[in-house]
This record gives sequence, structure tokens and C-alpha cells, in this order.
Amino acid sequence: MNNLDEVSKEIKKFNEDRDWDQFHAPENLAKSIAIEAGELLECFQWNNNFDKQAVYEELADVVNYCILMADKLGVDLADITKEKMKKNAIKYPVEKAKGTSKKYNELDNKEDDKINKARELVTKVRKLAEEYNANFYFVTDGASAINNKENEAVEVARNAVAKWEREHGIDDKEDWRK
Ligand SMILES: [Mg+2]
Repeated sequence: MNNLDEVSKEIKKFNEDRDWDQFHAPENLAKSIAIEAGELLECFQWNNNFDKQAVYEELADVVNYCILMADKLGVDLADITKEKMKKNAIKYPVEKAKGTSKKYNELDNKEDDKINKARELVTKVRKLAEEYNANFYFVTDGASAINNKENEAVEVARNAVAKWEREHGIDDKEDWRK
């Protein structure tokens, strides 16, 4: 028996002891999942200095209702999650989805790929700029290229980086440009 089975039994007994199953229609459980997800989100409402214990408890509340809903529907939560992961793997093949937060229906957009690559480059350049405490005019060039969605956005950023490297005598500052 895995941990999920154990906790499912405990949750089920907890509710049976209190005769709460009568309230657990699928739609009520779906609402409860959304409500607890809202409470989880509330932990981060104003800033990121969240109370870890509160987050753990709200996360547990979400899982609690997910387990109850799977039980009510007569399905195994681990099984349906595994099945969904198989579908996700088809929707999001590693070679297309790695390193991007794009939705599956946007993964083939080469233009966006270029823009994202340029954006990554500019982020890396900015980090380097902080490291060297310097003023980097080309960061603006790269950002402007991104904003204009120019085809050459990547080249603009690369050229700017190369120029900066030449000017600062840095030839091979690790692999951060790749
Ligand atoms: Mg709660």
C-alpha cells in the first residue's frame, strides 16, 4: 500500500465517522477543490513572504478534496494522473516544450521561438551586466528587437553581446551565450 492509499483510507474514515458523505456530491467536491485552491492562492495574495505552514495546510486541503472526488467517482487518483501524464507527454514533446512555458498549440511558432531566444539572451546579458557593474547599451537594443518582434532579434542580441565582449576583452566567458 502506498502513501496515497493510506491517506485515502484515513480521509474516508474521517468522513464516514462524521456522516459527511451525504454532502459530497461530485459538484460539491469540485467546488470545494476550487475553494481550497483559492485559499492556497490567498497565502500569496500580497507578497511572496508566505507562511509555509499555511501553504502546506491549504495544499493538503486541495489534495484531500481531490482524493474524495476520485473516490466518489470510483476511480484511482494515481491511475488517472498517470493516464493524463501520458497525454501530456504527447502534447508536450521534450524537443518542442523544453525550457518554454508556451501552451501546446503554440509550440510550433518559430517566430516566437526566436523572440524567446532573444529574451533569454538579454536576460543572460543583464546578469552579466550586474556582475561587471557596467552600463550596457546593447541590452536596450536587444529589448527593442524583442518588442518589435523582428526576425533578427536573436542576431541583434548576439551581435551586441559579441561587441561588448570585444570591448571588454572577454572572449570565452563560459557558455552563457548558447
Ligand atoms: Mg483550507
